[in-house]
Amino acid sequence: MSAPARIDLHTHSTASDGTLSPAELVRAAAAAGLDVVALTDHDTTSGWEPAVAALPPGLTLIRGAELSCRWFGVEPAIPLHLLAYLFDPAEPELAAELARVRRAREERGERIVRLLQADGIRVSWSEILAGAAGGTVGRPHIAQALIRAGLVATTTEAFGPRWLGERYRLPKEDIDVFRAVALVRAAGGVPVFAHPRASRRGRIVPDELIVDLAAAGLAGLEADHEDHSPAEREHVRALAAELGLLVTGSSDFHGTHKTVRLGAFTTGAGAYERIVELARGVTPVASS
Ligand code: AMP
Ligand code: ZN
Ligand code: FE
Ligand code: FE
Repeated sequence: MSAPARIDLHTHSTASDGTLSPAELVRAAAAAGLDVVALTDHDTTSGWEPAVAALPPGLTLIRGAELSCRWFGVEPAIPLHLLAYLFDPAEPELAAELARVRRAREERGERIVRLLQADGIRVSWSEILAGAAGGTVGRPHIAQALIRAGLVATTTEAFGPRWLGERYRLPKEDIDVFRAVALVRAAGGVPVFAHPRASRRGRIVPDELIVDLAAAGLAGLEADHEDHSPAEREHVRALAAELGLLVTGSSDFHGTHKTVRLGAFTTGAGAYERIVELARGVTPVASS
């Protein structure tokens, strides 16, 4: 009997706020013993091509992204993340939304830097942009500047309430989550709600919203994730079963910007096959 496939459907490269290049990421995924890896950089597909070009034999690549979304049903609106798999990156409306969010992230990053500077903290926006090296800019890049300046020791500390977690936290101009689900579907993609119960990161949405999103085309929920407690994972699983949604588990690997390892959480073969069956945008890629 062959060993069950090892499937990790949520990772970040230097195309956003991970620390491995897309090529290094797929090589690391193979070295970690994965059979399938999804590249899901924040609000961009720019890592797809270099990941495909470097794909090692025996590894299947799922091309994806993690969309910065917001639910406007409460005041203030709640930010959330939507994983999108195998969508057509050329679909104009979705591509335009992603470009808009990337620009908004840069403006927001620059405003965070100005807030820090106003308090006498010596960080520079040009240095942070250089650190992002053309990838989607996020708070982990600002966290690195705080570490370089000797103000905090770790990324975790930089995300604490004294820094980027609260005092110097500014909202992004995210995509309305219902619009995001519709755009991903229209682009032939498969939308999965990332870490929906990660209360340790901030406010979470009520289950009633997930019911509405399922009716609007959401395909699945990410249950196994390091930011979910065992009870939260079980809750997500039960909700998915009730709503007929597929369930994933993934590492949300960010290289050295986080401690989690590739393959730390994985997705079952059944859920993976359903994602592939539902997709109409692009196909999984396996190197020949
Ligand atoms: P942003 O997208 O700019 O709002 O930054 C959020 C990113 O920072 C997400 O991709 C998270 O993976 C990462 N992040 C959030 N909280 C933490 C934390 N406590 N430690 C390390 N990374 C974090
Ligand atoms: Zn990230
Ligand atoms: Fe996320
Ligand atoms: Fe992520």
